[in-house]
Amino acid sequence: MGKSTPPLPVAPPAADDGPLQRVAVAVATPQHSGLQGALDYLGKRPLAPGTLVRAPLGRREVLGVVWPQPAASDAAAPEPGALRELIDVFDALPPLPAAWCELVAFAAGYYQRSVGELALAVLPPELRKLSGVQLARRLARLRARLVTPGGEPPALPEPSAEQAAALQALATQAEPGVTLLHGSTGSGKTEVYLREAERVVAAGRQALVLVPEINLTPQLEARFIERFPGRRVVSLHSGLTPARRLQHWLLALLGEADLVLGTRMAVFAPLPRCGLIVVDEEHDPSYKQQEGARYSARDLAVVRGRLEGVPVLLGSATPSLETWHNAQPAADGGAGRYRRLSLHARIGGGALPAVRLVDMSRIPREQQRVTPLAAPLLAALQQRLARGEQSLVFLNRRGYAPVLHCTECSWKSDCPHCSAWRVFHKVDRTLRCHHCGFSERVPRACPSCGNPDIQPLGRGTERLEEQLASALPGARVARIDADTTRRSGALEAELARMHAGEVDVLVGTQMIAKGHDFRRVTLVAAINPDAALFSSDFRGPERLFALLMQAAGRAGRDAQQAAGAEMWVQTWHPQHALYAALRAHDYVSFAQTQIDERRSAGLPPHAHLALLRADARSQPVAQAWLQAVADAAQALAAQEQVTIYPPVPLSVQRVADVERAQMLLESASRPALQRFLAAWHAVLQERRPESKGVLRWAVDVDPLAI
Ligand code: ADP
Ligand code: ZN
Ligand code: ZN
Repeated sequence: MGKSTPPLPVAPPAADDGPLQRVAVAVATPQHSGLQGALDYLGKRPLAPGTLVRAPLGRREVLGVVWPQPAASDAAAPEPGALRELIDVFDALPPLPAAWCELVAFAAGYYQRSVGELALAVLPPELRKLSGVQLARRLARLRARLVTPGGEPPALPEPSAEQAAALQALATQAEPGVTLLHGSTGSGKTEVYLREAERVVAAGRQALVLVPEINLTPQLEARFIERFPGRRVVSLHSGLTPARRLQHWLLALLGEADLVLGTRMAVFAPLPRCGLIVVDEEHDPSYKQQEGARYSARDLAVVRGRLEGVPVLLGSATPSLETWHNAQPAADGGAGRYRRLSLHARIGGGALPAVRLVDMSRIPREQQRVTPLAAPLLAALQQRLARGEQSLVFLNRRGYAPVLHCTECSWKSDCPHCSAWRVFHKVDRTLRCHHCGFSERVPRACPSCGNPDIQPLGRGTERLEEQLASALPGARVARIDADTTRRSGALEAELARMHAGEVDVLVGTQMIAKGHDFRRVTLVAAINPDAALFSSDFRGPERLFALLMQAAGRAGRDAQQAAGAEMWVQTWHPQHALYAALRAHDYVSFAQTQIDERRSAGLPPHAHLALLRADARSQPVAQAWLQAVADAAQALAAQEQVTIYPPVPLSVQRVADVERAQMLLESASRPALQRFLAAWHAVLQERRPESKGVLRWAVDVDPLAI
């Protein structure tokens, strides 16, 4: 079943005469230049907001977006002499939808960036290289090659009673709104997204599906493509070539793509007929951009839904506490903003894996030195091996060992440029800094005293792989982490080996804990996850719980083997409440305890945070600047009831010879914090950071890590 391709819109030929008109254009002006809005230019005719143009900026020629004219600036008469003329207009392309401009304007205001910087950062980079004529040619080629998607209708699973109830609730909701779909891994959430998307697409609308990291789950993309025969499914993520990314983006904007599946950047995909936004694994930290405009794609998806009047579906087995709070009814102390639908049972009736805790304090030291695996866990792995089942062993630290040390003196393999150790990578015998990238061959002897006996301390995945291979003779051990998957295609190849049953034990970082649907895995082990229990970041336990629940969800996905599935955790704190909740697979009570703790500590979701970060050559310089801008805002902070905490160094305070400091801001009211930040912006710019020796500063609103 195909559909006809509508002709591309053809713009009327440009009239080259007539009086010049003033046009506001968003161009990528740096935040620090103080230009918050769009710049004024002269055009030969009126241009619709959202039209892409090329404009002069200083001595350069840049891409820009015609911006909705703010009412206030109409009063000021254009001074043609002072304004510069646009260079090119991308006539062949329909203007970006008004809702796109609104979302960008909102995000720029909320995350304290200029509209132009944000707009240009979220457009496909390839656009910047093209002239109007070149883009028109690309469009013509794209259109000529556009074939009606084929595909056979798939063998559809009948929705379970819980899925049917959720679908019914979604189909009959009175207003679009936000829905949290809470259900453990394998409870059939993705099936609900697929059905909802099918309904929306059948009604002639486009569906937007956000996922944390597409390259980790190529399976998911295949599942979507298979489920939409005769429809066009495109992906948007950083793994695409620039040309391909532009092509997919164009298909979205032209309305040719029925379904857009993408990572956080896709929240800005221009969709003229958007009818649904899904955010899968909504708790995943990768939805937060960590540089430039530090936006949360999950939060912007909610805003976008409101702006466009379309429903938003957030799905997770372990929702972020912010989302959980929003989805708790007011009667239960929640915010009651979102609707909540739950899927309790695993599809096929399988049970979640039994959780086994190994108390490491009872394992003799000598034994720990020989093998990282406690005897009972080793026996369980051997049992899986004998039965031809697969196991995942998860350790969140790559490399061979986090540090090398000298057995004679106190030398350790620290990084000369960072306040961090360099990690020992045995495969190429290097010491590598994971913060700045500084890398050297391992020295033959201690650089400090000449002792040839330098030894690894602790372990990473590389060493664990080696130790597992020797502890399990005959087992086929493989490893997936950022080091083994750097080469393009390597991850896919390793995953394929795993799916084909050519691997018995897969070792890896959190990359292996994410959404993979490994059918033969019946044992998952976390080797040493305790650090996050006592992390300086208040979200440490929340993160750890989500990660362990997600890891547990990799075991027993095949209902026939689910009965024997196990999740093992080696811990020094088996009595910790987090592990008790994990054993019971009880997200709800874990979340409640955490939310109560956050309430008494004045932390999100009961308070709203922002960070101001400053980088300088020395820690005192960075902190002094932060203190100065805090002092300058005392009256404002008092008025808005925003608390400004003293500047502190970051936990890794020096990276690449740059000292990093930050200052936390907290408020019980989000609007008050927003008003404060907006007013504070001028102060930040006035205090000329460059003149004070500050290299960079950045505001992070709703920071994920503090
Ligand atoms: P989740 O997204 O919650 O992890 P999925 O939607 O991926 O769950 O479902 C888990 C597995 O169960 C998948 O293999 C999926 O194809 C299958 N599945 C989902 N819903 C049904 C159903 N109603 N009937 C049969 N199989 C189903
Ligand atoms: Zn030494
Ligand atoms: Zn370094």
